[in-house]
Amino acid sequence: MLDIIIIGAGPAGLAAALRLHQQGFSPRIYEVVPDLKPLGVGLDVKVYGTQEFDELGLLEEFRSISVDAQESIFYNKFGQEIYAERCGVHAGYRYEQRFVHRGILQMMLYRTVLARLGADSIVQDARAISYTQDADSVTLLLEHGDGSTSEVRSDVLIAAEGIKSVVRRQMHPNQSEPVYSGITMWRGTTLMKPFGSGGTILHIGAPQISSMIVYPIANDFEGSGLTLVNWVVEATRDESVEDWNQLGSIDQILPYYDDCNVELLDVQEMLRNAREVYLFPLIRHEPLDSWVDGRVVLIGDAAHAMYPRGGNGACQSIVDGNVLAQKLATIEDPKEALKAFEDVRLEGVNRIVMSHRGEGYEVIRRMIEERTGGERFDDIEDVLPIEEVNAIFSKYHALVGQERPGREAGETTGFRTWEVAANATSAS
Ligand SMILES: Cc1cc2nc3c(=O)[nH]c(=O)nc-3n(C[C@H](O)[C@H](O)[C@H](O)COP(=O)(O)OP(=O)(O)OC[C@H]3O[C@@H](n4cnc5c(N)ncnc54)[C@H](O)[C@@H]3O)c2cc1C
Repeated sequence: MLDIIIIGAGPAGLAAALRLHQQGFSPRIYEVVPDLKPLGVGLDVKVYGTQEFDELGLLEEFRSISVDAQESIFYNKFGQEIYAERCGVHAGYRYEQRFVHRGILQMMLYRTVLARLGADSIVQDARAISYTQDADSVTLLLEHGDGSTSEVRSDVLIAAEGIKSVVRRQMHPNQSEPVYSGITMWRGTTLMKPFGSGGTILHIGAPQISSMIVYPIANDFEGSGLTLVNWVVEATRDESVEDWNQLGSIDQILPYYDDCNVELLDVQEMLRNAREVYLFPLIRHEPLDSWVDGRVVLIGDAAHAMYPRGGNGACQSIVDGNVLAQKLATIEDPKEALKAFEDVRLEGVNRIVMSHRGEGYEVIRRMIEERTGGERFDDIEDVLPIEEVNAIFSKYHALVGQERPGREAGETTGFRTWEVAANATSAS
C-alpha cells in the first residue's frame, strides 16, 4: 500500500484524505495551523459539490450545517430585478446547491478525518518547507512550531496548502508572481432575519462600479433564531494584500448603495450591522501547464487558485481528491497515476480559472448598465429579453460541468419573480 502525505488541512486536503481512505489508503496530513478554527465566510456549494459530500457519506451532516439554495435573483444598481433562476433540486438537478460557512464546512471534514483515519492522521503546527525526491520516494522538509525541523518520506506527496503553496513555487520557480487585478472584495456576515424564501441568493449592482452578492449560510445561527447572512462586495481599490484574514471596514462601500432599493432586503442596514468584514483582493494566479513533478502533485488552490466568485474554487478542490484517489487506487505506478489525474483535470479546471476572471453569467448586470446608459429601465424585456439571458446561463452552467436539466428539450429554468407572483395570484 502506498504511503501518502498531504500538505494542508483545508477543504482540498481533508476531502482528499477521505477519498483516499475510501480507496483503502491511510494518508497523513501536515497542517501549519496549531489549532484549526472555523475561519472564513460563505461558500456557494454547487450541485456537483453536494454530490461529493453524498459520496463521502456526509450528505445529512452537510445538510445540517448548510442552507438549501432555492433561487438566484439578479438586480441592477437601483435594485430593479433583471432575471431569476431556480437552483439545485428546484431547477431539476439531482442534488441541491447549498450555502455554507467555509470554516464550519472545514470543521465537519476535519472531525470526519479524525474519526475515520485516527487521531494521528493530522499533524498540526507543522509547516511544509520544501521537497526532494529520488527514484523510490519523496522527502518533505517540515518546520515545527518550536523551530525544530524534521523530514518525512512517502511514496506520494499531495500539496494542498492553498494560494501561497510552497510546493507550487518550488515546482514552478519561473511562474510569474501573482498580480493584483485592481479589484478587492469586502467579505462579511450579518446576523439578521431571513429574507426572500430563506434560500435566496441576490446579485446586485453594475459590476463596473460595484457588485454585491448576498446569501444565507446558516439558519438559527448558534440558537439565535436568526440567519447568518454572507455578503461580498467587489469594488476597485488601490492596493491590497493576499491574505484571507485581512480586516476591512464598510465605510468605503456603503455609498455605492445610497440609491439601491431591493424589495427583499435593506442592503444598507445589512452592511451597517456586519459582524465581521474582511478584505480579499482578486489576485491573478496564472493557470499552470503542469501540476505534477514525479511523485509530487498539486491540488486545490495550490494547483488552480481562482477568483473566489461562485463557489467553484472549493467544489473543484474537492473533486480533485476524488479523481486523484481513483487514479492512485487503479494505476500501479504512482507517477503514472498522478499524470493520469492531471490529464483528467488540468485543462477543464484551467478553463474555469480563466472564466472566473471574466464575468461568467454576471455579465448580464454589465449588459443592463450599458444598454440603459446607467439609467433605470421601464420594461426589462425591451432591454434584455429572457431568451438571451437563458442562453448565457446555459452556456456557463455547461462550462462548469453542470449542464442545465431540460436544456436539450429546450426547457429553461430562468424566470422573473414578479411573473411567478402574478401567475400565483391569478391562479388562486
Ligand atoms: C483562513 C481561510 C479563510 C478562507 N475563507 C474563504 C471564504 O470566506 N470564501 C472563499 O470562497 N474561500 C475562502 N478560503 C479559500 C477556500 O477555502 C479555498 O478557495 C477552497 O476551499 C480550496 O481549499 P484549499 O484546501 O485548496 O485551500 P485552503 O482553504 O487555503 O487551505 C489550505 C490549508 O493549508 C494550510 N497551509 C498553508 N501553507 C502551509 C504549509 N506551508 N504547510 C502546511 N500547511 C499549510 C493552511 O493553513 C490551510 O489550512 C479561505 C481560506 C483560508 C485559508
